[in-house]
Amino acid sequence: MAEEKLSFQAEVARVLDIVVHSLYSQKEIFLRELISNGSDACDKLRWQSITEPELIADDPEFRITLTPNKDAKTLTVADNGIGMNREDLIENLGTIARSGTGEFLKNLTGDSKKDISLIGQFGVGFYSAFMVADTVEVITRRAGDAHGWRWTSDGTGSFTVAEHENAPRGTTVTLHLKDGEEEFLEEFRLRHVVKTYSDHIAIPVLLKQGDEEPQTLNEASALWTRPRNEITDEQYKEFYHHVAHAFDEPWLTLHYKAEGAIEYTGLLYIPSQKPFDLFQPDRKQHVRLYVNRVFITDDCEGLVPAWLRFVRGVVDSPDLPLNVSREMLQHNPMLRKIQNGLVNKLLGELKKKAENEPEAYASFWETFGAVLKEGMYEDHERRDKLTDLLRFHTTHGDGLHSFADYASRMKEGQKHVYYITGDDRDAISQSPLLEGYRAKGVEVLLLTDPIDEFWVANMPTYKEFSLKSVAAGGADLKDIKKEESEDAKDEDQKADEAPKEDLDGLITVLKATLGERVKDVRPSDRLTESPVCLVAEEGDMPMHLERLLRAHQQ
Ligand code: ADP
Ligand code: MG
Repeated sequence: MAEEKLSFQAEVARVLDIVVHSLYSQKEIFLRELISNGSDACDKLRWQSITEPELIADDPEFRITLTPNKDAKTLTVADNGIGMNREDLIENLGTIARSGTGEFLKNLTGDSKKDISLIGQFGVGFYSAFMVADTVEVITRRAGDAHGWRWTSDGTGSFTVAEHENAPRGTTVTLHLKDGEEEFLEEFRLRHVVKTYSDHIAIPVLLKQGDEEPQTLNEASALWTRPRNEITDEQYKEFYHHVAHAFDEPWLTLHYKAEGAIEYTGLLYIPSQKPFDLFQPDRKQHVRLYVNRVFITDDCEGLVPAWLRFVRGVVDSPDLPLNVSREMLQHNPMLRKIQNGLVNKLLGELKKKAENEPEAYASFWETFGAVLKEGMYEDHERRDKLTDLLRFHTTHGDGLHSFADYASRMKEGQKHVYYITGDDRDAISQSPLLEGYRAKGVEVLLLTDPIDEFWVANMPTYKEFSLKSVAAGGADLKDIKKEESEDAKDEDQKADEAPKEDLDGLITVLKATLGERVKDVRPSDRLTESPVCLVAEEGDMPMHLERLLRAHQQ
């Protein structure tokens, strides 16, 4: 087949333009991205070869080889992984904008330092090659295929694809380095970049210079299989950046081995910053699943519940079957047990943090609390454990408070935990609905996450106290004793004492005037300053929820 010339899809062309013209800092990350692609490609083939061993029979040792050529001014990154056929090539490297492409463009800040960190995160890593190369050539052959393909581009508007004879299995990327990028031909530079970003890659990264024996540049063993005391904080962090495609500090690093009913190793992280897809509707989890170091999937439903989807990392178990489809695996009872173990472990760690490092916990809560709360609604078994982890802003001053804090401040005679919901904390904390509670010194939770309506409706009590919205039904504040020091404000007392006939007269007038627009008009002790307020009937849909659903047109 003759060489074809194809245009980059418009969004891809924009990404390329930005990569080539605007990102100058830390150019060396192109190598991390190409090595990471090679490693992914080997992972994919390793998995496939379990059922089709003939695919790797002629070359079973996976590896990535770097070959600098000073005469030609080229650097080659080659892997013997899965490779690509013609369709793969065209789709993956050019014409179809992948889901991350648009996100990448949207998230650009114009600050080269920050923007470069977006490259791996949004799956546009391959294009980073054009930061250092003016021409990139890809020779690739898909495992099992007879013919290979050659892809070339100078990163401007188009690329070429042609059939290629005698391509080895896997993918070879050759970078024709730009003037001034010759440092990437030097051994010390390559060694340093590999050590810094790709040390944890589980297959060997080799350096081949001239006729010399290739040397291995990385540790080449899966980080999670090494003993904890042999792993440095830096290594843990580097690995986090790799598995999470993230650039923040991990907020929590958890490395442990479970033994007993089921055996598995977990190397789990909680980020310190929100991943960009946190509130996307698919609520996808991101922990990578391995079976005896063979990568299975990073999209295993059932490994981690949706309400822990911010967790990143790796789970490796020898107890799962290797030769079943990913779909079958999701229904494996062992997987269920692993999930159970993971969730309990994570909740246990969160509890420790909450107790021992409340400030650090508060920052976690501000970032991921809204997601964790989904568990209150979705995981009844864990509701008690989760209840202890919940934190709230309340009418009791700044900072975050737990249910236990709230309970310790409850007034004599108080039978409910009161809450108010809304979109904006400042707005709801000034609501007239709170007047009567404030006057009696009764604390009210200020709930502003959309999910709040759902879990509070699902959680009838905290200990013996039922949860009650200040916006629904009667306020029943009469039974709560006012504290001595608060006796200055006793307007509500006076309201109670207002002559019944006066009040009845007023209510009749109000009802007549408002007609169908209200269900009822009632005297109340919830107000001390405002004359009236609107409340929902007990058992009716909360007003805030009603507004929320209307906004989503449901
Ligand atoms: P990501 O790795 O996040 O998917 P990249 O831009 O790095 O994004 O790569 C895009 C896609 O191109 C990959 O998902 C993969 O399908 C394909 N690809 C890139 N490099 C290789 C390789 N060495 N071997 C096989 N496929 C590759
Ligand atoms: Mg990649």
